[in-house]
Amino acid sequence: MRQIKTVAVFCGSNAGQGEDYRLAAQALGTALAGRGIGIVYGGTHKGLMGVLADAALDAGGALHGVITQRLFDKGHLHPSLSVQEIVAAMSVRKTRMLELADACIALPGGVGTVEEFMEAWTLNQLGDLDKPVGLLNVSGYYQPFLTFLDGMVKERFLPQEHRDSISVASEPEALIELLMRATAPTAPKWL
Ligand code: AMP
Repeated sequence: MRQIKTVAVFCGSNAGQGEDYRLAAQALGTALAGRGIGIVYGGTHKGLMGVLADAALDAGGALHGVITQRLFDKGHLHPSLSVQEIVAAMSVRKTRMLELADACIALPGGVGTVEEFMEAWTLNQLGDLDKPVGLLNVSGYYQPFLTFLDGMVKERFLPQEHRDSISVASEPEALIELLMRATAPTAPKWL
């Protein structure tokens, strides 16, 4: 079993439509805090990130926010985090989040969330990183994305083993368990 002390969570700076996404962000924050797993994330009070942070703090969890100077200047920083880190640029922030994390989870979100997730997954695929990635597939939100990846496999742009290296679950506890059991793919990236 892999030891996971800190998880990087990528998620929407908007909360999405309806209650399901908020409830999932709350459940993930509570589950991670309940297991004593720290969270590193975008550091804001906005959208699902704020919901995740509030739930984790309520459950006694540790949160490390890494935010850019520009977003900090706009007043986006969550005021109650365990650690607040302000960096110069988004690229620095992503590197820092991956440095601090043992695994990554994406909740539903927009292009920022997908971009962060893809960078973490790509680095794992190349063998530059060994920090497994997972999708919390709330209400099937990531199904079209997973179908797109299956098309990549079919068209021989992506090895099946690399596609399967993404842990997918609809419940936080199940996803955390999958990440703890995840192993790095051994198949080469090039088909
Ligand atoms: P999006 O999914 O496009 O809303 O972007 C969310 C992702 O980008 C998060 O995981 C954050 O790391 C980052 N991000 C976007 N907006 C903000 C913000 N206002 N404050 C902090 N991080 C943000």
